[in-house]
Amino acid sequence: MIKRNPLVMVPGPTPVARSIQDAMGRETISFNDPRLTCEFNALVSDLVSLWRCDGIAFVVAGSGTMGMEMGIVNTASSSDRVLICSNGYFGDRMADICSRKGFDSEVIKAPACGMTVSVEDVDKKLSERKFDILVLTHVETSTGVEFPLKDLTEMMRAHHPGTLIIVDGVASMGGVDFYMDWGVDVMLSCSQKCFGTSPGLALLWASRRAVAKRRSMPPIAESYIDFEKWIPVMEDTMRYWGTPAVNMIWALSEAVRIIKEEGLENRFKRHRAYAKAIRRSISAMGFKPGADESVASPTVTVCLYPEGCGLDDADFRDAVYSEGAHVAGCLGELAGRGFRIGHMGNIDEHILVSLIAAIERACIKRGYKIKPGVGLASLQESLLKSW
Ligand code: PMP
Repeated sequence: MIKRNPLVMVPGPTPVARSIQDAMGRETISFNDPRLTCEFNALVSDLVSLWRCDGIAFVVAGSGTMGMEMGIVNTASSSDRVLICSNGYFGDRMADICSRKGFDSEVIKAPACGMTVSVEDVDKKLSERKFDILVLTHVETSTGVEFPLKDLTEMMRAHHPGTLIIVDGVASMGGVDFYMDWGVDVMLSCSQKCFGTSPGLALLWASRRAVAKRRSMPPIAESYIDFEKWIPVMEDTMRYWGTPAVNMIWALSEAVRIIKEEGLENRFKRHRAYAKAIRRSISAMGFKPGADESVASPTVTVCLYPEGCGLDDADFRDAVYSEGAHVAGCLGELAGRGFRIGHMGNIDEHILVSLIAAIERACIKRGYKIKPGVGLASLQESLLKSW
């Protein structure tokens, strides 16, 4: 029997479609070969136009964390005050980056795990004291919550138009509703989540205002991630700063082609529908979604173990792996209390059915007695509804 790899259902990396793998497997050519630069230029201009950016998109080798650093160091000058909204582990990472950089920063935390900092709290804080930069995480991967970004940008435009907004969209970009013209100044992401490409690229969108801010600042300490170094390259990819990740650029171009074929709006709807189906299905099996339903993320779900179910976290996840799906452990205060499912990028209904079936078998084999098919029945009912 063919032994298949387990489905990659962690919150990144996500399943990589065959055509994307094929693009990555092409023979490597020079970074200034016109066969690459033509495609690279088209990729950058697609990223700008798809997400309605009035500035520049950056595609730079690195991971999401590098994107976080790149976003903040290019927009916050040493005298700026930075307000960070943290809904969990990755919000705290942003706070750590800001404190290491020595920025004058303050953090607002979510009122409880599985909730998000509210738009009202941000408004209140910004009304009490001036902040030059606001930073937030669109989807907090550790708790599975989605920040109400549209509402926030509307409030910011009305009450605090002078504050620049930086958003960590690592676990949302390409899967969750968002456009730069909502009024965001820097959106950062990476290749291995909703884009469904292998890890290796950081992606950033900077508004015209963010670019102007960088230009108004003196030289920054960082070199590799300086906007000023990359802007000429992104305007014409024949130019050189750091060697581009040639094969990853091909892969991302194919990922963007897939996104255009599906259509961004359809992709947003699909992610919301699948997430809801997963939440209902795991609830039917007795697990509890970790995020409050009002802010549950379309891309990642925390599944808390039922009280007294007798499942041991690491052992249970091993069992799910043996049944054919790789799910992730929880982070921070939720560690050991549940597992996380990543459901983003180029996934489909076959993948969801296999995932839920693997979880059901693992439950039963590890002595947590559920009726075979209980999660699947719920999933199928949801998938049969139109969305
Ligand atoms: N922000 C969020 C919301 C994330 O989920 C992650 C990765 N899981 C990161 C930042 C960091 O990205 P990377 O691991 O690619 O550095």
